Amino acid sequence: MGLTTTGLDVARQIEVQRGFFKTGATRSIAFRLSMLTFLKQAIETHEEAIYDALKVDLNKGRQDAFTTEIGFVYGEINRMEKQLRRLAKPRRVKTPLLHFGSKSEIRFEPYGNVLVIAPWNYPFQLALAPVVGAIAAGNTVVLKPSELTPNVSRVLREVFETAFHERFGVVIEGDAEVSTAVLEEKFDYIFFTGSTRVGKIVHQAAAKHLTPVTLELGGKSPTIIHKDADLRLAAKRIAWGKWLNAGQTCIAPDYVFVHRDVQETFLRLIEEEAFSQYGNGVGVGSYVKIVSDGHLERLTGYLEQGNIEFGGQVDPETRKMAPTVMTNVPLDSKLMQEEIFGPILPVLVYDEIEDVITFVTDRDKPLALYLFTENEFVKERVLNRISFGGGCVNDTLMHVAQHNLPFGGVGASGIGGYHGKYSFETFSHRKGLVHNTTKFDLPFRYMRSNTDSKWMRF
Ligand code: NAD
Repeated sequence: MGLTTTGLDVARQIEVQRGFFKTGATRSIAFRLSMLTFLKQAIETHEEAIYDALKVDLNKGRQDAFTTEIGFVYGEINRMEKQLRRLAKPRRVKTPLLHFGSKSEIRFEPYGNVLVIAPWNYPFQLALAPVVGAIAAGNTVVLKPSELTPNVSRVLREVFETAFHERFGVVIEGDAEVSTAVLEEKFDYIFFTGSTRVGKIVHQAAAKHLTPVTLELGGKSPTIIHKDADLRLAAKRIAWGKWLNAGQTCIAPDYVFVHRDVQETFLRLIEEEAFSQYGNGVGVGSYVKIVSDGHLERLTGYLEQGNIEFGGQVDPETRKMAPTVMTNVPLDSKLMQEEIFGPILPVLVYDEIEDVITFVTDRDKPLALYLFTENEFVKERVLNRISFGGGCVNDTLMHVAQHNLPFGGVGASGIGGYHGKYSFETFSHRKGLVHNTTKFDLPFRYMRSNTDSKWMRF
């Protein structure tokens, strides 16, 4: 194993962490709580540098950066600090009569050495929210941030260096090549957030060592607007969820299916809402930029695949693309085949809700789904028939901010989930234990070759 771009010897790093985990130090709850406190303090110390890095890498404004990145991580740490002792307690379970005399429990034990691989779109939050869970469950951590947000990656390394000794937590910076090298090593758990394409590569690498994984992946998340929906509110909440982070959100509405009867009104309202919330985007100081020239080029290509209802302006200098709605988009176009992951929203029309259900279930299971309706029958039909990671009725994105819900995908959009107590469970092995009595011994289970007892005659 060679050196990474920052000169780290990956194999040595992992060996050091493996040795430290074996000492048992991370198993103490007091140790884990200290590490969470150190992490929080290191974030506080570097807060200005984090804001600056998010501004340079993605043009994120302070409020946006706090709500969707820094504040989110503080919230995860604070809640974990409050809950950890309760979550980590062994859980007694009922003992059936067959096991008379014994007691049973589930103990939550750390897997050991965890690898977290993070993407660029919420580069701070999506790196550290899993790390909080890994620490709380008593694991050591290697974090590999995205190379597409290099300033955030550097600050993450500084935060780790401030908070932890390398034997407990270390950031390995670098690109796909470094990631590939890290994945050759044996970890006890891998938590990956990124594209479905790379998720498959990570899953294969994990399979070589039979390492369990959480895969937080992407895909096309549908939004359905039924004819009875509150259209003004639907337009407002879709505009917010779609153009936050310039559409570079894994659970952003990817495309909209609107009922034919309300299509025109919806198109008018979404244009009004887009403008009132984000202006024309391109000229607005706080509007997030596209992460790289390559992604801007990919998104610009989509603009030719249908009618632009509004938006479509691109500024290569600032790497910004306006909030854009497109109609008459062919279903076999790239725009409707690939995850958009940018500020373009195709709007399709439907007559029967059944057609939408067929359309969605014929494709990969989405990470999120949003439904706008007041009709209970339509709601239950959609929610019961379509499999998707998670979502909202009459809203967008808000399920990710509800920390009592597990967050994750299903099928091509991911494996497993996290946030809040689910993060603790994700990074813990459930060890099932029976404690039997030695005061007596029931004879039924033993084989007796020389007896004709009726118990043995089956
Ligand atoms: P990506 O898959 O390109 O990269 C993610 C991470 O994997 C990066 O750290 C990258 O360096 C690394 N990587 C890239 N190629 C690799 C390879 N061949 N082998 C090993 N590692 C490799 O994803 P991205 O572009 O950073 O993020 C966008 C994608 O992530 C979108 O599909 C989006 O939907 C998804 N996403 C999902 C969630 C979620 O919670 N489910 C959250 C954010 C983003």
